[in-house]
Amino acid sequence: MSQQVYKFSLSTINHMKKSYETQLIGTPQGAVFRAKTDHAVITAYRSGKVLFQGNSPETEIAKWGTTKQSNHTAKQSTKKVKANPFNPPSTLFTNSHIGSDESGTGDYFGPVTVAAVYVQDHQIELLKELGIQDSKKITDERVRALSKDIIQLELPYSLLILHNKKYNTLQQQGWSQGKIKAMLHHHAIDHVVNKIADAPYHGILIDQFCQPHVYKRYIASEQATMAKGTYFMTKAEHYSIAVAAGSILARASFLNEMDKLSEKIGYPLLKGASNKVDQLIATIIKAQGIDSLDHCAKTHFINTKKAQAYL
Ligand code: MG
Repeated sequence: MSQQVYKFSLSTINHMKKSYETQLIGTPQGAVFRAKTDHAVITAYRSGKVLFQGNSPETEIAKWGTTKQSNHTAKQSTKKVKANPFNPPSTLFTNSHIGSDESGTGDYFGPVTVAAVYVQDHQIELLKELGIQDSKKITDERVRALSKDIIQLELPYSLLILHNKKYNTLQQQGWSQGKIKAMLHHHAIDHVVNKIADAPYHGILIDQFCQPHVYKRYIASEQATMAKGTYFMTKAEHYSIAVAAGSILARASFLNEMDKLSEKIGYPLLKGASNKVDQLIATIIKAQGIDSLDHCAKTHFINTKKAQAYL
């Protein structure tokens, strides 16, 4: 099966819809129509993108006097690829794959969350249409809304939350934050691989937070091995919709956990690790004692010391 994406004017799309009138099937969210012919499944989106998938998509494409192809992601990614076995092939982004990303690692308060998501090739356009993108580029409210959309689509995913108490214990046992992240990614990916059983995927992409050989060493120290076809890439969420979906699930979960912790502690906890965070730490220590930080903060951050200035 092959798939191709072309861009058309809205009037052409309306014309197409009419011509496929008797072959229309369920319209996915964000689409204008979907039709099934003997040659292909045709899905048209409001942005003008039309996806042709099937045994002979060319036959349908030829009917519509095609214009330029709109597969920007694949084009951009070609430039990025260097000769490194851990660099993803540019074909990964347009095929079924697993992506994973984390959240909360730079925030003094709150847990570390990691999400791995499996996206199939035919879902990629729909996820793009929904606006799935790097969670760092959009507002918290949008992250929460998109997270609900992803969950509704029932994509196989695994979301792990490492709460502060456990995080602090591991850190005191000598685990670096890198190792903590590596093991969370490893487990999340493993869960997804098991969940999807025999469903095909072209690879696994981790939003790179350390060198791949360091990642391998971290998980080897816990007797784990990396799955075949695991790739690493910085800013992977810009190229892979699966990593972008992971970044949104992880961030939304972090935000929810922060809400719960804020309620528990009785102060609205701040994200990040700024001076304002130092002042808030001092306020919490004064009101509830330093031990209270163990279940809401990453206590090894320098902020714990800096807060002393406000006591
Ligand atoms: Mg990341």
